[in-house]
Amino acid sequence: MARILDGVAIAKAIREEVAEEVRELSGRGVRPGLAAVLVGNVPASEIYVRSKVQTCGELGIFSDLITPQADVTTESMLELVDLLNRREDIDGILIQLPLPAQVDTKRLLDAVAPEKDVDGFHPVNAGRLQAGRPALAPCTPAGVIQILKRSQIPIAGQHAVIVGRSDIVGKPAAMLLLHENATVTICHSKTRELPEITRQADILVAAIGRAGFITPEMVKPGATLIDVGINRITERADFDRFFKGDLKREESFAKRGTTIVGDIHPAAFKTAGAYTPVPGGVGPLTIAMLMANTVRAAKMRRGL
Ligand code: NDP
Repeated sequence: MARILDGVAIAKAIREEVAEEVRELSGRGVRPGLAAVLVGNVPASEIYVRSKVQTCGELGIFSDLITPQADVTTESMLELVDLLNRREDIDGILIQLPLPAQVDTKRLLDAVAPEKDVDGFHPVNAGRLQAGRPALAPCTPAGVIQILKRSQIPIAGQHAVIVGRSDIVGKPAAMLLLHENATVTICHSKTRELPEITRQADILVAAIGRAGFITPEMVKPGATLIDVGINRITERADFDRFFKGDLKREESFAKRGTTIVGDIHPAAFKTAGAYTPVPGGVGPLTIAMLMANTVRAAKMRRGL
């Protein structure tokens, strides 16, 4: 039986550790602060940001939710970022993506002070990560490492194959696994003979954005499967393709008319040694690591 890597429990443990650090900092008169910038009315973004702000409250982190209108210009967003960069009570700046088309996202992310870049998206932090210097690493890949370490899954010397090379997930995940002494292979849409490569993985990280893309024959028996993907399905045919016979899912799909599936076909979990479920695997770690990065930024900025 494959072992389920419980992201909910691991995220809870990290949140408790962060809350403890926040209490210690408050003894020194420091309260970490996060600015969350939510532009317009994208429902998914609203849910994510609300949950980030709520978690701040639970852990004793100060948060400031800023909500520019959907028609905001790049210039006024740059002014906002400049203000946040200079605010003493703000240690972390989170700009929820995606931004409206008229806003130059790259220019904006590059304007965030690297020491307040708690998403780890700034080129300076990407460079620091690559150079193996202390950095604010992107939250989702940092969460992947936490899942592996806290589940006592060996990384050093293992062959880690990452499918996906985005700046947000794939590339930083590769870099973090490399720093943990894995032998790393990065695959993408132009990779040839992908199943042959994924079958060599001791640790397979899927960050593709395509429902159930990794099928059982692409997986080495006993491998650890880390499923970063979040894909919403609403069609009955898709549901049957992934979850036929799963009564618990059936119940919630019947009620809500939707469910989420990762980038790994659930049938592949059966031959795995261990895997992260979707939901309840990598997802919960992302917010926990954002909180950890905010406290880290607060400490680093004060030389603590
Ligand atoms: P991107 O779309 O930025 O990147 C997807 C990557 O997958 C690209 O590198 C692409 O290759 C590769 N890819 C696409 N098709 C194929 C294929 N047929 N074969 C091999 N590789 C392929 O996505 P993200 O990295 O932002 O996100 C990936 C997934 O993770 C999504 O489902 C997203 O929702 C989820 N996610 C989950 C988070 C969480 O908190 N759990 C946080 C962030 C993302 P190429 O570069 O060649 O185009």
